[in-house]
Amino acid sequence: MCGIAGIFNVSDSETLVAELLFSIQHRGQESCGLAARNERGNIFCYKGMGLVKNVLTEEILKKYSGNIAIGHVRYPTAGKSDETNSQPHVIELPEGPHLAICSNGDIINYYELRTWLENDYGFTFKSDNDGELIGRLIAFYLLHKKLSIEDSIIEAQKQLKGAFSSILIYRDKMFGFRDPHGYRPYVIGTLDDEADLNGEIPSEGIVLASESCAFGIVGARMIREMRPGEIIRLEKGKPMTTVAVNAGKTQHCVFELIYFSRPDTKVFGEKVYDVRKKIGAQLADYDKNMGFGDDTVVMAVPDSSNFVALGYAQSAKLSFDMGLLRNHYVGRTFTKPDQKQRDEGVRHKFNPLPDFFEGKKVVLVDDSIVRGTTLRKITRMLRNAGAKEIHIRIGSPKVIGSCYYGIDTPTRNELIAAVKSHDEICEYLGADSLKHIEIADFGKILHKFEDFCFACFNLEYQYKPEDYHQKVNRPDAK
Ligand code: 5GP
Ligand code: MG
Repeated sequence: MCGIAGIFNVSDSETLVAELLFSIQHRGQESCGLAARNERGNIFCYKGMGLVKNVLTEEILKKYSGNIAIGHVRYPTAGKSDETNSQPHVIELPEGPHLAICSNGDIINYYELRTWLENDYGFTFKSDNDGELIGRLIAFYLLHKKLSIEDSIIEAQKQLKGAFSSILIYRDKMFGFRDPHGYRPYVIGTLDDEADLNGEIPSEGIVLASESCAFGIVGARMIREMRPGEIIRLEKGKPMTTVAVNAGKTQHCVFELIYFSRPDTKVFGEKVYDVRKKIGAQLADYDKNMGFGDDTVVMAVPDSSNFVALGYAQSAKLSFDMGLLRNHYVGRTFTKPDQKQRDEGVRHKFNPLPDFFEGKKVVLVDDSIVRGTTLRKITRMLRNAGAKEIHIRIGSPKVIGSCYYGIDTPTRNELIAAVKSHDEICEYLGADSLKHIEIADFGKILHKFEDFCFACFNLEYQYKPEDYHQKVNRPDAK
């Protein structure tokens, strides 16, 4: 998982992009970077390992300035984590380094396309990253097929299978484009206070980002979401233009709404916090006959399930409280390489309030169970703190399959719901009861249920990696 941002034709665009990246930092903490183009046509690119505030410092932003800029935050993955796999990528063209690209998603036929470009056309790759592949594929159509930049993007979009929300700088233009299914989020905003959002919108001041929560920090207004399969062009002195829309079956990632996106984001035609509260209300509905009352407290595993727990408590008219404190200075526990480190990570991350749980019935709400590490540890913690009963409620269906479209789910044998029965999971977690929201009940929550991908919950994949033989050997999967 990653985040992208871009701004067209305003001064200090690099500083604004750094701010956008800061507000989508939750989408990736491993590395970040930006590419900025100045009026003289030079593209500067700077990338580094670590957080936006530490990498894209004031000093760097002064040095790498331009009026068009794009940037990226990268999520830690099982694959190689070094600077070569950070984005954006600048692709050298014979006339100069005039193409820069960043992308969020996962290309399933990555190796097929890469091998083809390497073997048949002598392309050299500097990373194992999807963003670079997309850039080089576009360069292929520009250089070898002599197509316009617009047609090159259209052709590349047809070849690429999987998820991509991408931004490209080509000479003095900027392009935003998205895969035909719209897997990953992508929103368009503007810094122009006067622009009529229903009419033609000037390219100047257009802001592209993974999530609308980024707009506030730079003072941008949301225009709309990028359409699945859409390609837009931004050009000096001209309005923002849709070059083409090559849409397929819409397959928005429902896990974005469950876990990944920030609650203040509006995406896929939904408000993230609103969906999470409705998930909570649905879970409360399952529990009508549980006899929960004054001795029951509803609690989140902070912070990812806060709104689900709140929705549950409001709907069930039970008290919502915060019995667990989260230490915000702990690194990632989810992506630690071995189970011992993940277990320790959970202990470092959460601590119960003293004298809070004695004799209480707890409805413990989390957004998802992947390996089961977090909830097993927390359940023990709460029992030791005196909790009488612990009822675990989960704001997602059971995760039984890996994601091939950009979320870093572990392989199937590590997914607890793929290898254990419901009762076995409940026992493993040490809970008195366990319930997940059912897939079908998202039909009551989402405005357009049929537009969402539930593949990690129902194994109904639009594309499977086995359709593309080399994918299995990819050194870097996201
Ligand atoms: P588990 O501990 O069961 O392996 O993972 C579930 C926990 O990890 C939940 O608290 C959930 O908020 C979080 N989580 C779920 N998916 C992801 C992910 O893709 N990345 C990270 N960092 N955390 C996740
Ligand atoms: Mg969590």
